[in-house]
Amino acid sequence: MVPVLMEILVRRCASSKIIFVLMYFNLNFLIFQAQLAAINFAAGWAVDNSVRVNIFTDSLSSIEALKKSNSKSKYLNEIKNNMFNAVGSVGLSWVKAHAGIPGNELADQYAKDAAVNGNFLSMPAPYSYLKKFIKKFILNNWQQHWEDSKSGSRVREFIPHVDFALLTHNRYFLFFISGHGPFPAYLHRFNILESPNCVCGGLGDSDHFAFDCPLTSSFHFVKPSNLNKPFWFSNILKNRNSLVRFEQICRISGKICDGLKA
Ligand SMILES: [Zn+2]
Repeated sequence: MVPVLMEILVRRCASSKIIFVLMYFNLNFLIFQAQLAAINFAAGWAVDNSVRVNIFTDSLSSIEALKKSNSKSKYLNEIKNNMFNAVGSVGLSWVKAHAGIPGNELADQYAKDAAVNGNFLSMPAPYSYLKKFIKKFILNNWQQHWEDSKSGSRVREFIPHVDFALLTHNRYFLFFISGHGPFPAYLHRFNILESPNCVCGGLGDSDHFAFDCPLTSSFHFVKPSNLNKPFWFSNILKNRNSLVRFEQICRISGKICDGLKA
């Protein structure tokens, strides 16, 4: 449940018509939900009090959502059922916002009042919103950890900002950006190989095989400058051919490591 600051007021006009006004502010992501809640409340009030009402709203999206024959939203379907039960006693009409229509202008005025004197009402957040909220929360935490971490400086040169795409990418590419893969320099750190060098004589790290080693020259990339690494990285991610080249590079470096072990 996500709290929404809003208040529902009932005002009796000089013409004896009842006006329901929903006030909400700050939480724009739930305005649509709040508009539906106001319509639902007004319809429920009409049924409970056995009166016929017409609800005027400037929320076209709410009307269209209620007209839809199928919806996955439990909340929306509950409101649709309530509206169905109120057929004959509750009408729903759209009015243009900010067009000088007295009732609509009055609703805006009450909304401003509620910004100062509103009460809290809890209502369920839509599933789509929760998914977006949780994803953003996880990404923010991950980014913070990314920036605070003392390890992984090489990866951060290519990826200053975390990305879910990284979690699903092919392992050969991850070998390259982390340097943790079938490379003599990496395996030497764990005493698996005696020397960190490639058979060609150069330092056998992931950069060597991607940019310099004569044994992988068919698959080489142009080495990006330090400043250009993030842009280079994002282009590589989009290019399937580049990922295949990384796979070939890692297969060759793996065979070189196997040869050095023997
Ligand atoms: Zn080499």
